[in-house]
Amino acid sequence: MINVIGAGPAGSFFSQLVKDDVRIFEEHKEIGKPIACTGILTSAVSDLIKIDNNVIANRIKKIRLISPDNNYYEFKLKNEELIVYRDEFDKFLIEKAQDKGVEVYTHHRFLDFKKENGKIISNFDKGKFKSDILVGADGPTSKVAQSADLFKDRKNWVGKQFTANLEMDKEVFHVYFGDVPDFFGWAVPESDTKARVGVASEKNVSEYFNILSKKLNLKEKDLTECQAGPIPIYNSKIKTSKDNIYLIGDAAAQVKSTTGGGIVYGMRAGKILANCLNDEKNYEEEWRKEIGKELELHLRVRKFLNKLSKEDYNEFIKVLKNVDLGNFNRDYPLKNLKMFMKPSLVGFMIKNFYKAF
Ligand SMILES: Cc1cc2nc3c(=O)[nH]c(=O)nc-3n(C[C@H](O)[C@H](O)[C@H](O)COP(=O)(O)OP(=O)(O)OC[C@H]3O[C@@H](n4cnc5c(N)ncnc54)[C@H](O)[C@@H]3O)c2cc1C
Repeated sequence: MINVIGAGPAGSFFSQLVKDDVRIFEEHKEIGKPIACTGILTSAVSDLIKIDNNVIANRIKKIRLISPDNNYYEFKLKNEELIVYRDEFDKFLIEKAQDKGVEVYTHHRFLDFKKENGKIISNFDKGKFKSDILVGADGPTSKVAQSADLFKDRKNWVGKQFTANLEMDKEVFHVYFGDVPDFFGWAVPESDTKARVGVASEKNVSEYFNILSKKLNLKEKDLTECQAGPIPIYNSKIKTSKDNIYLIGDAAAQVKSTTGGGIVYGMRAGKILANCLNDEKNYEEEWRKEIGKELELHLRVRKFLNKLSKEDYNEFIKVLKNVDLGNFNRDYPLKNLKMFMKPSLVGFMIKNFYKAF
Protein backbone atom coordinates (compact mmCIF):
# COMPACT_ATOMS: atom_id res chain seq x y z
CA MET A 1 0.00 0.00 0.00
CA ILE A 2 1.22 3.49 -0.91
CA ASN A 3 -0.01 6.65 0.83
CA VAL A 4 0.32 9.75 -1.36
CA ILE A 5 0.05 13.16 0.29
CA GLY A 6 -1.29 15.87 -2.05
CA ALA A 7 -3.75 15.63 -4.94
CA GLY A 8 -1.94 18.07 -7.25
CA PRO A 9 -0.66 17.08 -10.71
CA ALA A 10 2.42 15.22 -9.38
CA GLY A 11 0.51 13.08 -6.85
CA SER A 12 -2.47 12.29 -9.08
CA PHE A 13 -0.37 11.45 -12.12
CA PHE A 14 1.97 9.22 -10.08
CA SER A 15 -1.06 7.41 -8.64
CA GLN A 16 -2.43 6.63 -12.11
CA LEU A 17 0.78 4.93 -13.14
CA VAL A 18 2.06 2.99 -10.16
CA LYS A 19 0.96 -0.65 -9.96
CA ASP A 20 0.60 -0.91 -6.18
CA ASP A 21 -2.61 0.07 -4.33
CA VAL A 22 -2.78 3.79 -3.59
CA ARG A 23 -4.61 6.16 -1.27
CA ILE A 24 -4.31 9.89 -1.93
CA PHE A 25 -4.85 12.38 0.88
CA GLU A 26 -5.66 16.02 0.17
CA GLU A 27 -5.98 18.64 2.88
CA HIS A 28 -8.58 20.71 1.04
CA LYS A 29 -12.27 19.82 0.75
CA GLU A 30 -12.25 20.34 -3.00
CA ILE A 31 -9.53 19.06 -5.33
CA GLY A 32 -7.84 21.89 -7.24
CA LYS A 33 -8.94 24.70 -4.92
CA PRO A 34 -7.64 27.21 -3.97
CA ILE A 35 -5.83 27.97 -7.23
CA ALA A 36 -2.36 29.60 -7.29
CA CYS A 37 -1.25 29.02 -10.87
CA THR A 38 -1.37 30.59 -14.34
CA GLY A 39 -2.11 27.21 -15.88
CA ILE A 40 0.34 27.38 -18.80
CA LEU A 41 1.27 23.99 -20.22
CA THR A 42 3.73 23.52 -23.05
CA SER A 43 3.00 20.92 -25.70
CA ALA A 44 5.20 18.50 -23.70
CA VAL A 45 2.11 17.68 -21.62
CA SER A 46 0.70 15.76 -24.60
CA ASP A 47 3.59 13.28 -24.24
CA LEU A 48 2.20 12.45 -20.80
CA ILE A 49 -1.59 12.59 -21.15
CA LYS A 50 -4.37 13.56 -23.54
CA ILE A 51 -6.20 16.46 -21.92
CA ASP A 52 -9.99 16.84 -22.08
CA ASN A 53 -11.14 19.95 -23.97
CA ASN A 54 -13.32 21.19 -21.10
CA VAL A 55 -10.20 21.72 -18.98
CA ILE A 56 -8.69 24.09 -21.55
CA ALA A 57 -9.42 27.83 -21.20
CA ASN A 58 -7.34 29.03 -24.15
CA ARG A 59 -4.73 28.04 -26.72
CA ILE A 60 -1.61 30.19 -27.14
CA LYS A 61 -0.02 30.51 -30.57
CA LYS A 62 2.57 33.25 -29.95
CA ILE A 63 4.71 34.61 -27.14
CA ARG A 64 5.80 38.24 -26.82
CA LEU A 65 8.97 38.99 -24.83
CA ILE A 66 8.99 42.64 -23.76
CA SER A 67 12.07 44.60 -22.72
CA PRO A 68 12.11 47.44 -20.16
CA ASP A 69 12.19 50.02 -23.00
CA ASN A 70 8.97 48.45 -24.37
CA ASN A 71 10.56 46.89 -27.44
CA TYR A 72 9.55 43.35 -27.98
CA TYR A 73 10.23 40.10 -29.78
CA GLU A 74 7.10 38.16 -30.69
CA PHE A 75 7.47 34.64 -32.03
CA LYS A 76 5.07 32.01 -33.30
CA LEU A 77 5.08 28.71 -31.48
CA LYS A 78 5.60 25.59 -33.52
CA ASN A 79 3.27 23.77 -31.12
CA GLU A 80 0.57 25.74 -29.35
CA GLU A 81 0.57 26.00 -25.54
CA LEU A 82 -2.48 25.42 -23.41
CA ILE A 83 -3.96 27.60 -20.71
CA VAL A 84 -5.91 25.35 -18.40
CA TYR A 85 -8.44 26.00 -15.66
CA ARG A 86 -6.10 24.72 -13.00
CA ASP A 87 -8.85 23.45 -10.66
CA GLU A 88 -10.52 21.53 -13.51
CA PHE A 89 -7.14 20.16 -14.61
CA ASP A 90 -6.45 18.78 -11.11
CA LYS A 91 -9.95 17.26 -11.00
CA PHE A 92 -9.41 15.69 -14.42
CA LEU A 93 -6.17 14.07 -13.20
CA ILE A 94 -7.65 12.77 -9.95
CA GLU A 95 -10.60 11.26 -11.83
CA LYS A 96 -8.15 9.33 -14.02
CA ALA A 97 -6.51 8.04 -10.84
CA GLN A 98 -9.90 7.07 -9.38
CA ASP A 99 -10.74 5.21 -12.61
CA LYS A 100 -7.66 3.11 -11.90
CA GLY A 101 -8.96 2.33 -8.38
CA VAL A 102 -7.12 4.90 -6.29
CA GLU A 103 -8.93 5.85 -3.06
CA VAL A 104 -9.17 9.60 -2.46
CA TYR A 105 -9.47 11.17 1.01
CA THR A 106 -10.19 14.89 0.79
CA HIS A 107 -10.14 17.19 3.83
CA HIS A 108 -7.36 15.09 5.40
CA ARG A 109 -4.29 17.05 6.48
CA PHE A 110 -1.09 15.06 6.88
CA LEU A 111 0.74 16.03 10.10
CA ASP A 112 3.68 13.66 10.48
CA PHE A 113 4.56 9.96 10.50
CA LYS A 114 6.35 7.34 12.51
CA LYS A 115 7.75 3.92 11.64
CA GLU A 116 6.48 0.78 13.33
CA ASN A 117 7.41 -2.82 12.44
CA GLY A 118 8.57 -1.87 8.94
CA LYS A 119 5.37 0.08 8.21
CA ILE A 120 4.88 3.84 7.93
CA ILE A 121 2.08 5.17 10.14
CA SER A 122 0.93 8.53 8.80
CA ASN A 123 -0.78 10.82 11.23
CA PHE A 124 -3.60 13.04 9.88
CA ASP A 125 -5.93 15.51 11.53
CA LYS A 126 -8.57 12.80 11.07
CA GLY A 127 -6.77 9.63 12.16
CA LYS A 128 -3.90 7.35 11.22
CA PHE A 129 -3.24 5.35 8.04
CA LYS A 130 -0.62 2.65 7.59
CA SER A 131 1.40 2.08 4.40
CA ASP A 132 4.59 0.49 3.08
CA ILE A 133 5.54 3.58 1.08
CA LEU A 134 4.86 7.29 1.65
CA VAL A 135 4.97 9.77 -1.24
CA GLY A 136 5.19 13.51 -0.55
CA ALA A 137 3.47 15.29 -3.44
CA ASP A 138 2.39 17.98 -1.04
CA GLY A 139 3.84 21.04 -2.69
CA PRO A 140 6.44 23.67 -1.78
CA THR A 141 6.00 23.51 2.00
CA SER A 142 5.91 19.69 2.05
CA LYS A 143 5.09 18.33 5.51
CA VAL A 144 6.30 14.93 4.34
CA ALA A 145 9.73 16.40 3.55
CA GLN A 146 9.72 18.21 6.90
CA SER A 147 8.82 15.16 8.95
CA ALA A 148 11.35 12.97 7.08
CA ASP A 149 14.07 15.57 7.69
CA LEU A 150 14.34 16.15 3.93
CA PHE A 151 13.35 19.82 4.08
CA LYS A 152 16.81 21.33 3.69
CA ASP A 153 18.38 23.75 1.21
CA ARG A 154 14.95 25.25 0.32
CA LYS A 155 14.27 28.66 -1.15
CA ASN A 156 11.15 30.01 -2.84
CA TRP A 157 9.94 32.79 -5.03
CA VAL A 158 6.53 34.13 -4.15
CA GLY A 159 4.13 34.30 -7.08
CA LYS A 160 1.34 36.90 -6.98
CA GLN A 161 -1.30 36.91 -9.67
CA PHE A 162 -4.70 38.45 -10.31
CA THR A 163 -7.36 37.64 -12.82
CA ALA A 164 -7.74 40.98 -14.61
CA ASN A 165 -10.20 42.57 -16.98
CA LEU A 166 -7.70 43.20 -19.74
CA GLU A 167 -8.16 43.27 -23.49
CA MET A 168 -5.47 41.27 -25.26
CA ASP A 169 -5.04 39.22 -28.38
CA LYS A 170 -6.03 35.90 -26.88
CA GLU A 171 -3.48 33.97 -28.92
CA VAL A 172 -0.44 35.78 -27.47
CA PHE A 173 0.93 35.82 -23.96
CA HIS A 174 3.23 38.60 -22.77
CA VAL A 175 6.35 38.37 -20.65
CA TYR A 176 7.80 41.56 -19.08
CA PHE A 177 11.51 41.60 -18.31
CA GLY A 178 13.63 43.96 -16.25
CA ASP A 179 11.22 45.35 -13.63
CA VAL A 180 11.59 42.35 -11.31
CA PRO A 181 15.27 41.74 -10.55
CA ASP A 182 15.02 37.98 -9.99
CA PHE A 183 12.08 36.92 -12.19
CA PHE A 184 9.62 38.57 -14.61
CA GLY A 185 6.03 39.70 -14.98
CA TRP A 186 3.38 38.09 -17.17
CA ALA A 187 0.00 38.73 -18.76
CA VAL A 188 -1.58 35.55 -20.03
CA PRO A 189 -4.94 35.78 -21.79
CA GLU A 190 -7.73 33.50 -20.72
CA SER A 191 -10.00 35.12 -23.35
CA ASP A 192 -10.08 38.37 -25.39
CA THR A 193 -11.10 40.35 -22.29
CA LYS A 194 -9.65 38.45 -19.34
CA ALA A 195 -6.04 37.72 -18.43
CA ARG A 196 -3.97 36.20 -15.66
CA VAL A 197 -1.51 38.93 -14.69
CA GLY A 198 1.28 38.34 -12.22
CA VAL A 199 4.86 38.55 -11.03
CA ALA A 200 7.11 36.46 -8.83
CA SER A 201 10.11 37.37 -6.75
CA GLU A 202 11.90 36.28 -3.59
CA LYS A 203 11.08 39.68 -2.06
CA ASN A 204 8.79 42.70 -2.52
CA VAL A 205 6.37 40.89 -4.78
CA SER A 206 3.51 43.34 -4.15
CA GLU A 207 5.70 46.27 -5.12
CA TYR A 208 6.62 44.56 -8.42
CA PHE A 209 3.01 43.67 -9.05
CA ASN A 210 2.07 47.36 -8.71
CA ILE A 211 4.75 48.31 -11.27
CA LEU A 212 3.38 45.78 -13.77
CA SER A 213 -0.19 46.77 -13.06
CA LYS A 214 0.68 50.42 -13.80
CA LYS A 215 2.41 49.41 -17.02
CA LEU A 216 -0.75 47.61 -18.12
CA ASN A 217 -2.89 50.52 -17.00
CA LEU A 218 -4.89 48.29 -14.68
CA LYS A 219 -7.06 49.94 -12.03
CA GLU A 220 -8.13 48.27 -8.81
CA LYS A 221 -11.60 47.61 -10.24
CA ASP A 222 -9.99 45.63 -13.10
CA LEU A 223 -8.40 43.16 -10.72
CA THR A 224 -10.62 40.36 -9.53
CA GLU A 225 -9.44 37.11 -7.99
CA CYS A 226 -6.01 37.26 -6.28
CA GLN A 227 -3.89 34.13 -6.18
CA ALA A 228 -0.52 33.86 -4.47
CA GLY A 229 1.83 31.08 -3.51
CA PRO A 230 5.40 29.93 -3.17
CA ILE A 231 7.36 28.64 -6.17
CA PRO A 232 10.30 26.45 -5.14
CA ILE A 233 13.75 27.24 -6.50
CA TYR A 234 15.40 24.10 -7.84
CA ASN A 235 18.44 22.90 -5.93
CA SER A 236 20.22 19.70 -6.94
CA LYS A 237 21.38 19.25 -3.33
CA ILE A 238 17.84 18.50 -2.18
CA LYS A 239 17.52 14.84 -1.24
CA THR A 240 14.23 13.41 -2.48
CA SER A 241 14.09 9.98 -0.86
CA LYS A 242 14.83 8.23 2.39
CA ASP A 243 14.01 4.57 3.06
CA ASN A 244 10.48 4.18 1.68
CA ILE A 245 9.68 7.88 1.57
CA TYR A 246 9.79 9.77 -1.73
CA LEU A 247 9.23 13.39 -2.81
CA ILE A 248 7.90 14.48 -6.22
CA GLY A 249 6.96 17.77 -7.89
CA ASP A 250 7.13 21.01 -5.92
CA ALA A 251 7.82 18.98 -2.76
CA ALA A 252 11.14 18.07 -4.43
CA ALA A 253 11.58 21.58 -5.97
CA GLN A 254 11.41 20.03 -9.48
CA VAL A 255 10.49 23.34 -11.09
CA LYS A 256 11.90 25.24 -14.08
CA SER A 257 13.86 28.17 -12.61
CA THR A 258 13.56 30.13 -15.86
CA THR A 259 9.76 30.34 -15.72
CA GLY A 260 8.56 28.88 -12.40
CA GLY A 261 6.58 26.24 -14.30
CA GLY A 262 6.33 22.97 -12.40
CA ILE A 263 3.28 21.10 -13.68
CA VAL A 264 4.93 19.13 -16.49
CA TYR A 265 8.10 18.44 -14.47
CA GLY A 266 6.04 17.37 -11.46
CA MET A 267 4.11 14.95 -13.67
CA ARG A 268 7.32 13.70 -15.27
CA ALA A 269 8.79 13.10 -11.79
CA GLY A 270 5.58 11.26 -10.82
CA LYS A 271 5.95 9.03 -13.86
CA ILE A 272 9.64 8.38 -13.11
CA LEU A 273 8.83 7.42 -9.50
CA ALA A 274 5.98 5.12 -10.63
CA ASN A 275 8.33 3.38 -13.09
CA CYS A 276 11.01 3.04 -10.42
CA LEU A 277 8.61 1.45 -7.95
CA ASN A 278 7.10 -0.79 -10.64
CA ASP A 279 10.54 -1.95 -11.85
CA GLU A 280 12.53 -1.73 -8.61
CA LYS A 281 14.82 1.04 -9.79
CA ASN A 282 16.47 3.82 -7.79
CA TYR A 283 14.29 6.97 -7.97
CA GLU A 284 17.00 9.36 -6.79
CA GLU A 285 19.27 8.23 -9.61
CA GLU A 286 16.60 7.96 -12.29
CA TRP A 287 15.03 11.41 -11.95
CA ARG A 288 18.45 13.05 -11.86
CA LYS A 289 19.34 11.17 -15.06
CA GLU A 290 16.08 12.02 -16.85
CA ILE A 291 15.27 15.56 -15.72
CA GLY A 292 18.09 16.66 -13.39
CA LYS A 293 20.31 18.08 -16.16
CA GLU A 294 17.38 20.00 -17.64
CA LEU A 295 16.44 21.50 -14.27
CA GLU A 296 20.08 22.44 -13.67
CA LEU A 297 20.23 24.20 -17.05
CA HIS A 298 17.09 26.19 -16.20
CA LEU A 299 18.69 27.21 -12.90
CA ARG A 300 21.92 28.37 -14.58
CA VAL A 301 20.00 30.41 -17.13
CA ARG A 302 17.98 31.97 -14.31
CA LYS A 303 21.20 32.88 -12.44
CA PHE A 304 22.52 34.49 -15.62
CA LEU A 305 19.29 36.41 -16.28
CA ASN A 306 19.20 37.68 -12.71
CA LYS A 307 22.48 39.48 -13.25
CA LEU A 308 21.21 41.48 -16.23
CA SER A 309 20.41 45.16 -15.80
CA LYS A 310 17.48 46.86 -17.56
CA GLU A 311 19.90 48.05 -20.28
CA ASP A 312 21.21 44.49 -20.70
CA TYR A 313 17.62 43.25 -21.09
CA ASN A 314 16.97 45.88 -23.78
CA GLU A 315 19.93 44.48 -25.71
CA PHE A 316 19.07 40.85 -24.90
CA ILE A 317 15.59 41.08 -26.42
CA LYS A 318 17.12 42.63 -29.56
CA VAL A 319 19.65 39.83 -30.02
CA LEU A 320 17.06 37.15 -29.25
CA LYS A 321 15.23 38.23 -32.40
CA ASN A 322 17.88 36.29 -34.34
CA VAL A 323 16.74 33.03 -32.72
CA ASP A 324 13.57 31.26 -33.80
CA LEU A 325 12.30 30.55 -30.30
CA GLY A 326 9.11 29.04 -31.74
CA ASN A 327 10.99 25.75 -32.07
CA PHE A 328 12.09 25.73 -28.44
CA ASN A 329 10.20 23.77 -25.79
CA ARG A 330 10.92 24.85 -22.21
CA ASP A 331 10.08 21.38 -20.94
CA TYR A 332 12.79 19.82 -23.13
CA PRO A 333 15.52 22.49 -22.96
CA LEU A 334 18.35 20.20 -24.04
CA LYS A 335 16.70 19.45 -27.38
CA ASN A 336 17.45 21.98 -30.09
CA LEU A 337 20.15 23.81 -28.11
CA LYS A 338 21.96 24.40 -31.39
CA MET A 339 19.39 27.07 -32.29
CA PHE A 340 20.98 29.40 -29.72
CA MET A 341 24.36 29.34 -31.51
CA LYS A 342 23.77 32.66 -33.28
CA PRO A 343 26.81 34.95 -33.34
CA SER A 344 24.99 37.94 -31.82
CA LEU A 345 23.53 35.88 -28.98
CA VAL A 346 26.80 34.08 -28.30
CA GLY A 347 28.51 37.52 -28.31
CA PHE A 348 25.95 38.81 -25.78
CA MET A 349 26.47 35.78 -23.55
CA ILE A 350 30.25 36.11 -23.65
CA LYS A 351 30.06 39.83 -22.93
CA ASN A 352 27.86 39.20 -19.88
CA PHE A 353 29.32 35.83 -18.87
CA TYR A 354 31.40 37.15 -15.99
CA LYS A 355 28.26 38.54 -14.33
CA ALA A 356 26.86 35.07 -13.76
CA PHE A 357 29.83 33.91 -11.70
C1 LIG B 1 1.33 32.29 -9.16
C2 LIG B 1 1.81 30.97 -9.70
C3 LIG B 1 1.69 30.72 -11.07
C4 LIG B 1 2.14 29.49 -11.60
N1 LIG B 1 1.97 29.25 -12.93
C5 LIG B 1 2.36 28.07 -13.47
C6 LIG B 1 2.15 27.77 -14.83
O1 LIG B 1 1.59 28.57 -15.58
N2 LIG B 1 2.56 26.57 -15.32
C7 LIG B 1 3.19 25.65 -14.53
O2 LIG B 1 3.59 24.59 -15.03
N3 LIG B 1 3.39 25.90 -13.21
C8 LIG B 1 2.98 27.07 -12.67
N4 LIG B 1 3.16 27.31 -11.33
C9 LIG B 1 3.78 26.25 -10.51
C10 LIG B 1 2.78 25.11 -10.31
O3 LIG B 1 1.62 25.62 -9.71
C11 LIG B 1 3.39 24.01 -9.45
O4 LIG B 1 4.69 23.72 -9.91
C12 LIG B 1 2.54 22.75 -9.47
O5 LIG B 1 1.28 22.99 -8.92
C13 LIG B 1 3.24 21.62 -8.72
O6 LIG B 1 2.40 20.51 -8.65
P1 LIG B 1 2.51 19.52 -7.39
O7 LIG B 1 1.52 18.45 -7.63
O8 LIG B 1 3.92 19.17 -7.15
O9 LIG B 1 2.09 20.40 -6.12
P2 LIG B 1 0.74 21.19 -5.83
O10 LIG B 1 0.01 21.51 -7.07
O11 LIG B 1 1.11 22.30 -4.92
O12 LIG B 1 -0.14 20.13 -5.05
C14 LIG B 1 0.14 19.79 -3.72
C15 LIG B 1 -1.17 19.39 -3.06
O13 LIG B 1 -0.87 18.92 -1.74
C16 LIG B 1 -1.83 19.42 -0.84
N5 LIG B 1 -1.22 19.44 0.50
C17 LIG B 1 -0.24 20.26 0.93
N6 LIG B 1 0.07 19.97 2.21
C18 LIG B 1 -0.74 18.95 2.58
C19 LIG B 1 -0.90 18.22 3.80
N7 LIG B 1 -0.14 18.48 4.89
N8 LIG B 1 -1.82 17.22 3.84
C20 LIG B 1 -2.58 16.94 2.75
N9 LIG B 1 -2.48 17.61 1.59
C21 LIG B 1 -1.57 18.60 1.51
C22 LIG B 1 -2.17 20.80 -1.40
O14 LIG B 1 -3.41 21.24 -0.94
C23 LIG B 1 -2.13 20.55 -2.90
O15 LIG B 1 -3.38 20.19 -3.40
C24 LIG B 1 2.73 28.51 -10.76
C25 LIG B 1 2.84 28.77 -9.38
C26 LIG B 1 2.39 29.99 -8.85
C27 LIG B 1 2.50 30.23 -7.38
